[in-house]
Amino acid sequence: MSSYFDGAWYPVGGSAVFAEAFAQAVRAGGGDLRTGETVAAIRVHDGRVQGVTLESGVSIDAPCVISDAGVRNTLRMLPSEEVDYDWARDVLEIEPSVGYVGMYLGLEGDIAANGASTANDWIYESWDVDQLWRNPLIEPDAPMMFVSFPSLKDPRHDPGPQQRHTCEIVTFVDPDAFTPWNTRA
Ligand SMILES: Cc1cc2nc3c(=O)[nH]c(=O)nc-3n(C[C@H](O)[C@H](O)[C@H](O)COP(=O)(O)OP(=O)(O)OC[C@H]3O[C@@H](n4cnc5c(N)ncnc54)[C@H](O)[C@@H]3O)c2cc1C
Repeated sequence: MSSYFDGAWYPVGGSAVFAEAFAQAVRAGGGDLRTGETVAAIRVHDGRVQGVTLESGVSIDAPCVISDAGVRNTLRMLPSEEVDYDWARDVLEIEPSVGYVGMYLGLEGDIAANGASTANDWIYESWDVDQLWRNPLIEPDAPMMFVSFPSLKDPRHDPGPQQRHTCEIVTFVDPDAFTPWNTRA
């Protein structure tokens, strides 16, 4: 907990600096990056991966595919006969974990004078925090909230004359709440 009181770890420049650093290394190695592309299928022939097909219809050949899209998403992209292995069936039996919603606010003014700090604040409705993490959806309405002010932690952030700052609020949510918009179910 004590690391949270000071705001845990925060990358100077914000979390985008990770993506920028990775991108430099990938491009320097002759690689390419495409954002906003959805992989529709991982192509497999005779038990060997052949590449991927994007939702746009573009096919990219590759002797090796490394997916960090999450194991369930990755299984969904594989041909059904590949998902027939025992290990794949075992994985599909694992329930998805709890969902979260995040709200990102832009603020103006002296937020530190109004109580904002660099701390990561976890606000719980109940002292029974263990129970909440074991069964987070037992409470219907926002049983916990995580609140932080990222711009206060970033020495590179220039608030300007209007003292612009950021605030992040996160809470648990039942993923079923989003089912009506899930076009990939
Ligand atoms: C609310 C919350 C707070 C967290 N706080 C922290 C923290 O303070 N510190 C910490 O270390 N970790 C934290 N984590 C955990 C951290 O975010 C994850 O561990 C990390 O993001 C996992 O990275 P990943 O690249 O494996 O997966 P993800 O970040 O989930 O990336 C998977 C990507 O694959 C993409 N994708 C899925 N399907 C396809 C497809 N078919 N085609 C193309 N792309 C696809 C998705 O859009 C997504 O961008 C937090 C997580 C949550 C939810």
